[in-house]
Amino acid sequence: MSLVIPAPVPVTVPITGGGRFPVRRIYCVGRNYVEHAQEMGFSGREPPFFFLKPADAIVVVPDGETGTIDYPSLTKNLHHEIELVVAIGTGGRNIAAADAAKHIWGYAVGLDMTRRDLQNDMKKQGRPWCIGKGFDQSAPISPITPITKTGELTTGAISLTVNGQPRQKADLKDLIWNVAETIEHLSAAWELAPGDLIYSGTPAGVGAVVAGDVMEGRIDGLGTLKVAVR
Ligand code: MN
Repeated sequence: MSLVIPAPVPVTVPITGGGRFPVRRIYCVGRNYVEHAQEMGFSGREPPFFFLKPADAIVVVPDGETGTIDYPSLTKNLHHEIELVVAIGTGGRNIAAADAAKHIWGYAVGLDMTRRDLQNDMKKQGRPWCIGKGFDQSAPISPITPITKTGELTTGAISLTVNGQPRQKADLKDLIWNVAETIEHLSAAWELAPGDLIYSGTPAGVGAVVAGDVMEGRIDGLGTLKVAVR
């Protein structure tokens, strides 16, 4: 095979304990904690909905290090969204929630960085969210911890501070659609494959960051994700 241009570099995320996880797609769940849905102007349990980010939006932050992202173009309102990330190890379609755990390889701490002003403009105009959600460096992620070490994560604190000040705090049990239900819905719409990541939604307390800010996200059992904006 002779490629006419250089092949893209594969995107991989380190595993705690060694090895790397190759990323295929990044699925994201919208409005998946009640209080966050309310702060975005919605209420009630609507069916889950999804959007995607390109795999190369990943910013790998090795364990114990502080990652950096550049303040993105076009926006004046860059928001943090701390999220549990689920890494799929075994693919499938129409996966029942009861079987979903078998498809999970591991978990990570992720940030669904959002150009909120652009996302809101697109919402108003009924246009796609890509420019607000799927931009370069919009998906910082911690190393992935195997489910064989954590067990299935259904409860546990999830939180984010900015410059040491609390911004987001909740528990994974507060998810409107838990991870298993999310996998059931997602796999009805797309065939999941090894290497897929699912950003499972963010709790209330989203807000803006500016250049110089340092975000620190934590999820029980998964350690921390520290990212500076420059
Ligand atoms: Mn999100």
